[in-house]
Amino acid sequence: MQQKKSAVRVDILMSCLLALTLISGYKKIESIANQTFGTPDIIIQDKNNPVIFGFDTGNYHLSTFTVSKGEVLGEILSENGIGSDVIHMIEKKAADIFSVTKLRPGREYHIVKTDSCSHACAIVYEPSPLHYVVYDFRDSVTINLYERAFETCIETASGEINSSLWNTLSEQGVNPAIIDKMEDAMASSVDFYHTQKGDQFKVVFEKKYVDGQEIGMGKLIGAYYKNDAGSHYSVYYENGEYKGYYDYQGRPAKSTFLKSPVKFTRISSGFNMRRFHPIRRTTIPHLGTDYAAPYGTPIRAVADGVVEEAAYTGNNGRYVKLRHDKVYQTQYLHMQGYASGIRRGTRVKQGQTIGYVGSTGLATGPHVCFRFWKNGRQVNHLREVFQPAKPMPENELPNFFEHRDKIKIMLDHIPLEGDASGV
Ligand SMILES: [Zn+2]
Repeated sequence: MQQKKSAVRVDILMSCLLALTLISGYKKIESIANQTFGTPDIIIQDKNNPVIFGFDTGNYHLSTFTVSKGEVLGEILSENGIGSDVIHMIEKKAADIFSVTKLRPGREYHIVKTDSCSHACAIVYEPSPLHYVVYDFRDSVTINLYERAFETCIETASGEINSSLWNTLSEQGVNPAIIDKMEDAMASSVDFYHTQKGDQFKVVFEKKYVDGQEIGMGKLIGAYYKNDAGSHYSVYYENGEYKGYYDYQGRPAKSTFLKSPVKFTRISSGFNMRRFHPIRRTTIPHLGTDYAAPYGTPIRAVADGVVEEAAYTGNNGRYVKLRHDKVYQTQYLHMQGYASGIRRGTRVKQGQTIGYVGSTGLATGPHVCFRFWKNGRQVNHLREVFQPAKPMPENELPNFFEHRDKIKIMLDHIPLEGDASGV
């Protein structure tokens, strides 16, 4: 018996290692926009690595500065002895590669000189710990954007919900970007607006490092969530045309309708047939669900559809109404403004920004009043039961199940942290 147990354990360990190899196999460089920035730790004089940003420190002298507020590259160049005609050429050439106007306060740049008192012969700017731009004007002007090699590590987090998922994760120092990804990964199975005390979650995700410095989140590889309705697994899977989060049975996690039109918010007023209206001071049914959010928060289409109305009325303020199919329409009220291109007849994709949170029309503060229409009548979307998405075809399933099982083993082996009962 004992022997059998340890054999199982070895098998599990092997599977985990296999999974890790598998996962590190598809790491890729993501766009700058998705990175969380940290402070890079650049060693300018390093005997073991004399070439920095392509400059041999035996011949070149590099000094490091931090971009101050309002500082522009032209100014920096001019202060370092570069003439206005060269600056103009740099600005023109840089436009396609990395515009000189994109310098951000707090980021570092390096002045490269042949000796400490000559004119600068190049400037290196680091827009992120993962990227650097070399503005080189030694002979002619050349500008190049480089990506550093980064490492992807697999990390885990788990917990039991005490107040909100957000609080539980932040208590553990987990990047809030995970919550966002978890919402995507379990869009069809878990309603994160109705998490309950005692719900449990576990996540396996990637973290990216450059020279040992954490630079941001990678993919969420797998997620587990246990609530009243049972245990839910979601796994990231990528193979040819299949790419994204899938549930245990191999059904896409993407549901036909997103649970809410705004991220990271709270329901400030639910669908209620007998609500006391705060402005009109009388009982009027509230045929929508209100989500409070700051002015300007993007409002997203909860499903693919066509814009049927993008208009203004005294009560609704600026609003958009979408037609999804023969049965369903959704409506978004009190917008501050529409997203560009949103007008009658525009096709929109699920998750696409259609407008921004405001308080136009009859509204006490910034929120979206979200209305869900079924066969021309308004219903409570949180009570609607939608057809689950179809699983991937039979011939893809064995491959998926093999991958899923590896991730499941990883998830099942994460100890549950933050358990209030102390068990
Ligand atoms: Zn409302």
